[in-house]
Amino acid sequence: MATAEVKLSVAEFVNEPFVDFARPENKKAMEDALAKVAGEFGREYPMYIGGERVFTTEKLYSTNPSRPSQVIGVFQMASAEQAAQAVQAAHEAFASWKRVPAEKRVEIIFRAARIIRERKFELSALICYEVGKSWIEADADSAETIDFCEFYGREMLRLTGEHPVTPQKGEKNYLVYLPLGVGAVIPPWNFPAAIAAGMTAASLVTGNTVVLKPSEEAPAVAAKVVEIFYEAGVPREALNFITGTGEVAGDAMVRHAKTRYIAFTGSKEVGLIISEAAAKRAPGQIWIKRAVLEMGGKDATIVDEEADLDSAVEGVTQAAFGYSGQKCSACSRAIVSEKVFDAFVGKLVERVKKISVGPSDEPHNYMGPVVSATAMEGILGYIDVGAKEGKLVLGGGRAAGEGYFVEPTIIADVDPKSRIAQEEVFGPVLAVIKARDFEHALEIANDTEFGLTGAVYSRNAEKIARAEEAFFVGNLYLNRKCTGAMVGAHPFGGFNMSGTDSKTGGKDYLLHFLQAKSVAEKVG
Ligand code: NAD
Repeated sequence: MATAEVKLSVAEFVNEPFVDFARPENKKAMEDALAKVAGEFGREYPMYIGGERVFTTEKLYSTNPSRPSQVIGVFQMASAEQAAQAVQAAHEAFASWKRVPAEKRVEIIFRAARIIRERKFELSALICYEVGKSWIEADADSAETIDFCEFYGREMLRLTGEHPVTPQKGEKNYLVYLPLGVGAVIPPWNFPAAIAAGMTAASLVTGNTVVLKPSEEAPAVAAKVVEIFYEAGVPREALNFITGTGEVAGDAMVRHAKTRYIAFTGSKEVGLIISEAAAKRAPGQIWIKRAVLEMGGKDATIVDEEADLDSAVEGVTQAAFGYSGQKCSACSRAIVSEKVFDAFVGKLVERVKKISVGPSDEPHNYMGPVVSATAMEGILGYIDVGAKEGKLVLGGGRAAGEGYFVEPTIIADVDPKSRIAQEEVFGPVLAVIKARDFEHALEIANDTEFGLTGAVYSRNAEKIARAEEAFFVGNLYLNRKCTGAMVGAHPFGGFNMSGTDSKTGGKDYLLHFLQAKSVAEKVG
């Protein structure tokens, strides 16, 4: 087998810069994009199965959580049979897509990144409307979408071709990476562009074909991403797009005999269902399905008595309440040394009181809504539980407005074993826990079933070193907030019930989408 010739020359990866909305031209561009996207509200989007546009009688409506009466888009409701047809179509397309040279696939993914960059404001506007992200959070989602395409494209160039192995006398030997087959790509709603595009780009650039089924809460953003991939040159047969429920369409994708792997990001509960379903062999299935599962968190920030308290207050505020706490990396536990507990809580409450809550398309609102009525009810239920388990010091209810607005809520004096300290709430609710000393803080931090992100604030180098050794999380941050992972700089993924630690945006990631073949030929 000849070494794949890698001619594409690319600059070193750099992160897409964030937009500075303080500049009048950027503010205007975002306002124009919001107006343009609002003009398309109510549009109907097809599914794409085997290159065909497919419509169903039953529809799925995506609404704006800031103004729930606004319909963002009308979507199809895939049946289990249609999900199976999509897997079959992707299976048939695999024979040709896997033979497209890696360099060509990379060019297509880079083209997708360029198109997204050109339409960044529009994509951000749609994110802002569909899932209630503030301008800044929506822009970060769009930037990460571009980063994933740029990063995985470069990674594929590194991984393609023959790789040297230990030379063996009398043999020509090498190792090459092959794609797997059909990937069932199942993203969550909270990074509707970045995660959907990231798992899809990783799949396609490695030569796999895809059935993408976005979250019921965010089909419009995913549809926009899919349209861009098609425009960039991804064959429609190689990227099938279906919408519908996880229980019906998602489940059928996972269980199909021709599905080779599942790339899932979402809750622990669904991740475990998928893990179990993927392990069962379907009639006719001739491989063991791979399951790349990125799941929830109960992320903690440790605030030591030797911390810069103001910096810790700012970091915890942003990590706990940015995007209404709806990030897997969100800080939902502050574990604070008893020596500075009262001072920290006092400062934190004053800081969080300044957060403005309201429609996310209005740029002065730091916090938008939570994603749905169901999410809001769940969060309010947790607040009731937490208020009994600890002391409610701020918030505790709905915030004013038509949308699904929840007040930023702080519950102090929480027992580390209580539900509010153990279960993922996925909303703007922070539990503050008292620790006797640093070792006790680490013990509490590690004492959940999760292990995604964590942060430590301390000026003491020995304590920092101890945290590096003992804080058991996939992403540890020292003297900075625990959210805001950057592609390339902070490969992302967690331990234990936070998932399979696939490290998105890192150099290990594409290997989950490839299988290595070793070749040795006797010579001489
Ligand atoms: P979710 O688990 O409810 O849904 C995720 C996806 O799974 C959706 O597309 C849904 O339709 C689908 N699904 C649901 N049931 C299914 C089934 N039985 N079979 C197949 N697919 C099914 O999660 P969500 O509410 O969309 O997202 C929030 C969760 O995602 C949080 O727990 C958050 O921590 C987690 N998350 C994790 C990461 C990470 O990198 N670890 C990143 C973002 C979000």
